[in-house]
Amino acid sequence: MEKKKSTHILVFPFPIQGHINPMLQFSKRLASKNLKVTFITSSSSSVTENSSTCIDTETIYDGFNKGEKSTDPAEFIARYESSVPKSLAELIEKYSSSEYPVKCIVYDSILPWVLDVARKFGAFGASFFTQNVAVCALYYLAFDGSLKVPVEKDKMSFLLPSLPELEFNDLPPFVNGPGAYRAIYDMVFSQFSNIDDVDWLFWNTFYELEDEIVNWMARKWPTKPIGPTIPSMFLDKQLEDDKDYGLSLFKPNSDACMNWLNAKEPNSVVYISFGSLAALNEDQMTELACGLKSSKKGFLWVVRESEDKKLPDNFIEETKDMGLVVKWSPQLDVLAHKSVGCFITHCGWNSTLEALSLGVPMVAMPQWTDQPTNAKFIADVWKVGVRVKVDDEKGIVVKEEIERCIGEVMEGETGNRIRKNSEKWKKLACEAVDEGGSSDKNIEEFVSKLVCNSN
Ligand code: UDP
Repeated sequence: MEKKKSTHILVFPFPIQGHINPMLQFSKRLASKNLKVTFITSSSSSVTENSSTCIDTETIYDGFNKGEKSTDPAEFIARYESSVPKSLAELIEKYSSSEYPVKCIVYDSILPWVLDVARKFGAFGASFFTQNVAVCALYYLAFDGSLKVPVEKDKMSFLLPSLPELEFNDLPPFVNGPGAYRAIYDMVFSQFSNIDDVDWLFWNTFYELEDEIVNWMARKWPTKPIGPTIPSMFLDKQLEDDKDYGLSLFKPNSDACMNWLNAKEPNSVVYISFGSLAALNEDQMTELACGLKSSKKGFLWVVRESEDKKLPDNFIEETKDMGLVVKWSPQLDVLAHKSVGCFITHCGWNSTLEALSLGVPMVAMPQWTDQPTNAKFIADVWKVGVRVKVDDEKGIVVKEEIERCIGEVMEGETGNRIRKNSEKWKKLACEAVDEGGSSDKNIEEFVSKLVCNSN
């Protein structure tokens, strides 16, 4: 059957970097299958220009004007959710009378009400999960009451269907209640509010990585892993217009990073990034800085603008011969560079999957949300890294531990084992998105169904 460019899909992420990136890459994959794809950004976020010509972009009003900010997540979410349903409906309405009525909306799973907007216009709804299936399964088990965290937390380990044995510290903290983040907690758990009604559930993961838990999930809902959503040039054959992420909320210091890496020996550099949101406290920054210094390895450290006052005095000056500190990096280019031998990561799902798919061994230093669970899988299930131990007394990771973990990952027997496993997963990740691979098949099947329904 001939696929038609007239089958039009909207792709709509919540405006944070870790959600924009995978959904934007997924949009490009769909466009490569000859669909018309419009990627929606929101008025509050100043994204860099879309460098891709294979997809269109539209910006809708989200309760904030460009550059207007709210530092309170609860206030942001409340204003966002009171404006977006209307703006989104107006956009779909605009297309209804055009050559390209909207056939399906692929929306961020934490915005489940988009399904109601889609239905109003007779469109399909596909929920896109930006975290992995294991974490979502844990959230689901907490949501439906099957996962109960007991009072004596540290004595407890959890045996859950199709998951490895987990200890309390391996669970995403939200399964234990909202803590100080009620609004974010509510969003996370809202993912399941209408899950039975959704037409497709997409996950940025791949079947081979999480086969048992995907099978478990697929017995309940139409679960489709479609990842890793990494630009094709890093994985398989290069698709048209697919050279980088494209839309970024931060401006990467690309030349400085790449020139600096080009001058280093293969596998010699430690890359450190805590993603777009996590914030370390000042004591933790100091321990990390001292650990890097005493490791004697070259390092490339992303310290966002909002964080750089926490660096120890004179650190940049004192380490200028061994390291480079930047405000934002072109992370995929960095991870794909031959000089990088280790990634100290907060274990955000995108960073985890990017490192795993590009074969970079990790030191897992999780902070919150899904990161502790991702760290457990990195160290004990996929065996592509080690996880730092938090000092019992200080409650942070001390410099000796940082130095020890870098050594384990980059040297000796453990390092060799981790590198071998990393190569294995890199190959499997490429195969999943390559033509006929498990993720590619799921995308093809979705496209065929949509096109069929358009005829
Ligand atoms: N990233 C980047 N440059 C940086 C740091 C991060 O391009 O200096 C990208 C990274 O490749 C990933 C995203 O930002 O795609 C961060 O998402 P992740 O899920 O790892 O963490 P979050 O920011 O959501 O905590």
